[in-house]
Amino acid sequence: MDAPFKIIVRRRPEATTPVAPEDFATMPPSYQVTELLGDGIGAELSRAVHALADALPVRLEFRAVDLTLENRRARGKAVYDEAVEAVTGSIVALKYPTITAEESPNAVLRRRLDLSVIHRPVTTIPGVPSNFRRELDLDIVRIATGGTYDDPGRPIGDDGAVSLRIVERRPVREAARYAFNLARRSGKRVTSASKYTIQQATDGLFEAVAKEVAIQYPEVPHGVELFDALLGKVIMNPEKFQVVLTLNEYGDFLSDMACGLAGSLGIGASANLAFDKAEVVRVAMFDAAHGTAPDIAGQNKANPTAIFLALAMLLTQLGETAVAGAVRGATLDLLRDGIRTGDLGGSESTESFAAAVAAEVGRRLTPGPAPAR
Ligand code: NAD
Repeated sequence: MDAPFKIIVRRRPEATTPVAPEDFATMPPSYQVTELLGDGIGAELSRAVHALADALPVRLEFRAVDLTLENRRARGKAVYDEAVEAVTGSIVALKYPTITAEESPNAVLRRRLDLSVIHRPVTTIPGVPSNFRRELDLDIVRIATGGTYDDPGRPIGDDGAVSLRIVERRPVREAARYAFNLARRSGKRVTSASKYTIQQATDGLFEAVAKEVAIQYPEVPHGVELFDALLGKVIMNPEKFQVVLTLNEYGDFLSDMACGLAGSLGIGASANLAFDKAEVVRVAMFDAAHGTAPDIAGQNKANPTAIFLALAMLLTQLGETAVAGAVRGATLDLLRDGIRTGDLGGSESTESFAAAVAAEVGRRLTPGPAPAR
C-alpha cells in the first residue's frame, strides 16, 4: 500500500431519466455514505451535515441506520447487524454521538467491524480560546484494540486486583504502516511512544514492530520516546512532534490532552479504520470526539465543527482532497473570523453556522478567480 488513503468508491449517480453521454461525463461523482444516527444533538448535527453536503460538488448518497438508544433497546443485535452490513457495503460511514447505556455502540462497532486503528488529527485553531499559547499540529495514530482496555481485570483476594495488558503484532503493524504512509505523503516525521523500558514484553513488541515498519520507509524520520516524557515534550516543544504512533490507552490520554491544549474537547474528529490482508483500508468510520450533549440537545446550539472535520476526513478517504480541504478550511477560517457557536463564545446557531460554512465552501469551490472574503 502506497498511501494511507485510497480512492475506494467513485461512480456516477443513478440517473432517473435517460442521460446523454456528453451530460453523463459532467455529472458529479457520487458516493454512498452510511450515516449512523445517534442520540441527543445527533439529529441537529445530521441536519447540519446534510446542509453542507448539499453545497458540495460531489453527491453523497446517505443511507441512515438508526443507532439511537430507543432503537437499540427495541431491536437489540439486529440494529448492529444492519449497521455492519451498511458500513461494509458503503465502505465509509459517518457516526453521530450515541449514549453509552447497556453497551458502548463505539466498542461494539469497533469489534464487529474490526476497526483496529484510530487516527485523530489535533491542531490549534487560530481564534479558538485556549490556555496554551503554542501551535500544535499532531496526527495521533492509535492502536484501537488491546493495551489494558480489552480486559476489565479481576480481584485477587480482598486486597489486590490484576488485569491483562495485550499487544498484538497485526494491529501494531497496521497502525505503523498507516502512520508511516501518512508521514511520507505529508513530509512529516513519526514518533513512536510507549513504556518499552518498563513494559518490556508488550511495549517492547510494539516498538520492535514499529522499527520493522520504519525500515521500509527510509525517507521518513522516526524517533522513539518514552510516553511519559512525550507528554512533557509535546507541551514544551510541540513543533517537534508531527505523527505520533502509540498504544491504545496512551493514544486515548494523548488525544484528550492535545484537544485540551488546542482549546476544546469538542472540536476533535477521528477516523476509525479496518484493513484488508494487503493492509489497505477496508472500512472507515468517521466521528466526532464529543458526546451527545444532552444539556443542549434540540436547542439548535450544537457546534457542528467536529462532525464537519470528520466529514472532511471522510472526503479525503474518498480521494476528494480538494473538496475535503474546502470543508476543513472554510470551517476553521470561519471560526478564526469569530463566526462561532455559543460553546466557543459566539452567537451562531447550529443552522446558521452550517449555512455559513456551506456558503463559504460553495465560494471556494466555484471555478474562476477566488472572490475576496
Ligand atoms: P458530552 O461531550 O456529550 O458533553 C460535555 C459538555 O460538552 C456538555 O456541556 C455539552 O453541552 C458540551 N458539548 C459536547 N459536544 C458539543 C457540541 N458539539 N457543541 C456544543 N457543546 C458540546 O459528554 P457527556 O455529557 O459526558 O456525555 C453525554 C453522553 O454522550 C453520554 O451518554 C456518553 O456516553 C455519550 N458519549 C458518546 C460518545 C460517542 O458516541 N462518540 C463520546 C462521548 C460521550
